[in-house]
Amino acid sequence: MSKNYIVGNAEDVELMNGLMSSNYPELIENGVNVGLFYVVKVDKDGEVQNEACLKKDGRTCSGKISLISDLNRMTDSFDAKIVLDLNIWQRLSLEEKNALLDHELYHLYIVKNPKTGEVVTISDESSKVKLKLKKHDVVMWGFHDIIVRHGFGSQELQVLNGISECYKDYLVKSV
Ligand SMILES: [Zn+2]
Repeated sequence: MSKNYIVGNAEDVELMNGLMSSNYPELIENGVNVGLFYVVKVDKDGEVQNEACLKKDGRTCSGKISLISDLNRMTDSFDAKIVLDLNIWQRLSLEEKNALLDHELYHLYIVKNPKTGEVVTISDESSKVKLKLKKHDVVMWGFHDIIVRHGFGSQELQVLNGISECYKDYLVKSV
């Protein structure tokens, strides 16, 4: 089994660009170019497999953003890239696609000088801005068995309960 990468189609690139204009204008103003790609799993004959294959920290994930190295940013056109698992992506509603792309873009930010607030470039000669990826600020972790064994005594369930409490107004739609 191996993976094939496919360049994002015009419709999805437009969806991503729309989100960048409305939610991340600073990235556009600073010429940050995000590439969009899909990944699919293929067998030894090159036949596309109908299963998810994108992983992060060993777990299946729908999408992933990563930064392009400074050297490649000087030689290639992209500054960051989003890879979507095509198998999952194709089954998402427009609302879910928007949320997923927004999530990936949210990771990306421009490094600024803490004293002056000015954007930092990758070198004195380059106008390309230094980029970093934000870590998630809503995190759930733990073991299923520990929740089952210890119920509310487990940190897992307490964190999960805190998250549910915090977002209860948004959960209404799904019940
Ligand atoms: Zn993320």
